[in-house]
Amino acid sequence: MPTLKEQFWDPVAGFGVTFRTMFRKVVTEQYPFEKKPTAPRFHGRHQLNRWPDGLEKCIGCELCAWACPADAIYVEGASNTADERFSPGERYGRVYQINYLRCILCGLCIEACPTRALTMTNEYELADAVRADLIYEKQDLLAPLLPGMEQPPHPMRLGNDDGDYYRGNFQRSAEGAPTDGGSEGGAR
Ligand code: SF4
Ligand code: SF4
Repeated sequence: MPTLKEQFWDPVAGFGVTFRTMFRKVVTEQYPFEKKPTAPRFHGRHQLNRWPDGLEKCIGCELCAWACPADAIYVEGASNTADERFSPGERYGRVYQINYLRCILCGLCIEACPTRALTMTNEYELADAVRADLIYEKQDLLAPLLPGMEQPPHPMRLGNDDGDYYRGNFQRSAEGAPTDGGSEGGAR
């Protein structure tokens, strides 16, 4: 036989939570109409960075692809030539793809990258109705050209030899080439 408490109080007591919540501040976010900024180190879409003269930092080494636990990265390297230079080293990433249907945004690939070519931005809107559109190609991932940068291929503009180039031992040129460390995206 249920007690009086069980018969009359317990069914009503459950509504106490509902009643209290009615007077609390609403926490519903109005996404996508209002977008809240992410934490600064949030791992979002990747970015392939450039040197300050516009050359690509990626050397096509595939370390990011090997580090990826989801097999989401595909890289094909190729050699730079005297006439066609895309990165300051011997090699560059001719093909670079990230499959966002597989990527779990864990960040292991950016840890593996030896040149800091690969970083992650705060961009998180990675949904699409077409599966093929979620395989991002190199042109989708490359950092935009900032003022003073030149679209590769072109010769190394930041020093006469590799040492000068990589150490940043160069001055702002008359044309206004930048002197900082190039463009690097968000979290790391
Ligand atoms: S963030 Fe993780 S899952 Fe995504 S490409 Fe990099 S290593 Fe692979
Ligand atoms: S992004 Fe970095 S790790 Fe990946 S291929 Fe390019 S240089 Fe190598």
